[in-house]
Amino acid sequence: MKNKYDVIIVGNGVAGLFAALHLPNDKDIAIITKGDMEECDSYLAQGGICVLKNEDDYAAFFEDTMRAGHYENDRDAVELMIRSSQDIIRELVDYGVEFERKQGEFTYTKEGAHTASRILHHEDLTGKEITSKLLAHVKERKNISLFEHVTMVDILERDNVCYGIMVSENPETGKLQENISKTKNVDVGESEYIVQEKVSRIYSDYVIWACGGVGGLYKHSTNYRHLTGDTVAISVKHNIELKDISYVQIHPTTLYAKTSGRRFLISESVRGEGAVLLDKDGNRFVDELLPRDRLTEKIREQMAKEGTDHVRLSVTHMGAEEIKKRFPNIYKTCMEQGYDITKEPIPVVPAQHYFMGGVKVDLDGHTSMNRLYAAGETACNGVHGANRLASNSLLESLVWAKRGAEDIAEHYECADHSWCEEYFEDEKSEGYIPDKSYEDVKDEYFYLAREKVRPGFTG
Ligand SMILES: Cc1cc2nc3c(=O)[nH]c(=O)nc-3n(C[C@H](O)[C@H](O)[C@H](O)COP(=O)(O)OP(=O)(O)OC[C@H]3O[C@@H](n4cnc5c(N)ncnc54)[C@H](O)[C@@H]3O)c2cc1C
Repeated sequence: MKNKYDVIIVGNGVAGLFAALHLPNDKDIAIITKGDMEECDSYLAQGGICVLKNEDDYAAFFEDTMRAGHYENDRDAVELMIRSSQDIIRELVDYGVEFERKQGEFTYTKEGAHTASRILHHEDLTGKEITSKLLAHVKERKNISLFEHVTMVDILERDNVCYGIMVSENPETGKLQENISKTKNVDVGESEYIVQEKVSRIYSDYVIWACGGVGGLYKHSTNYRHLTGDTVAISVKHNIELKDISYVQIHPTTLYAKTSGRRFLISESVRGEGAVLLDKDGNRFVDELLPRDRLTEKIREQMAKEGTDHVRLSVTHMGAEEIKKRFPNIYKTCMEQGYDITKEPIPVVPAQHYFMGGVKVDLDGHTSMNRLYAAGETACNGVHGANRLASNSLLESLVWAKRGAEDIAEHYECADHSWCEEYFEDEKSEGYIPDKSYEDVKDEYFYLAREKVRPGFTG
């Protein structure tokens, strides 16, 4: 990496990539990611992305989002997200994203807490379809450089202005953590983290945080293990405003496994297509389309009543052919784990899934620190309130990534970095990372993140 870019984007999920595509072509942009290019939650999104189908659905879409969020949502943010959705989908289609269609027209699906079908999908691999197409376009842009296995460990701040970031490079970050949990069944709970090596300062005029969620801090989560809420820890250190950080969504249905590590999600759209939850005697015990937090509660109650550590989900009513066509990825993964979903119910259990809170941003993605923006799951604009409505997060990530990038483009001002080397060199003794061994800093960050991110609200 060079030691100066115009804009640094931390994270290469949909938020990071879409932001990069909306920055001017004449800006020198770096995107860094802790893991491999394809190791981010955006690739994992199965169910789909919400869109305002037509004006008739506006009031219901708004109300469904608010009700799921326990009316703690920011109304302006919700309106902005819904009103921006058609443009976002048009753009995605222009980037080559393919959504399911019948006779040329979009087909819409439904998930829990939606009163209407308004979700576009690509099989059960919507996130991969969107993210891989965006990544392909990013790779074509000569002004954007992508760096894998580079971790932001701090920002370069003076007087509440962000002048760049500190990074450490390690080819094993992300990948190793995933592999351990997958193949060796070693517990990679909250205490595991890979020690980084070389730490360097990278300056920029603007930084965009697009660092995803906090699942890596939890023992059982659907998220990639390297998503550890780093922006929360850095915000605590630099007094950047946070919002709703105890609002953590637990997904009611992930594939049960005795080992820990990343949990495989059984998408809400499976329940949207009529799958039923069964108790240990095979009886249906709940309305499967309750909002995620309420359904999680009901499943936990049921498990406590039965003294079990999972319940079961059956989708057999759909028929083998339809299941394989509609949910090929879920079918294949369950089969690999020894469950044929066309023939039998599968064991499911709630797990950490989504972070509603995060770094506080306004409607244009500004954080409370100058020259620092945030978008996607790492940011909190209040759109989800206390609980996210299914399939609103890809949309929200794209809307705010675009708005942040456009805001930077519109108000672009170069920062003066002439004093930085000397200043940040001197600041070492004040606690910048090179001053400490990385091990110490790591523990401190984890302490901060763990202290600040609590699953106090289960969905
Ligand atoms: C299994 C699963 C299914 C989902 N299904 C849906 C769905 O159907 N519809 C929907 O709308 N949403 C869904 N979601 C949620 C949605 O996928 C995410 O909220 C969204 O993709 C977040 O995008 P992002 O760009 O903010 O973050 P991510 O895609 O998670 O990307 C974060 C990036 O930041 C990088 N990063 C983090 N910290 C650092 C650091 N310190 N230094 C450098 N890089 C860093 C990571 O390496 C990663 O590249 C699902 C989530 C999961 C886990």
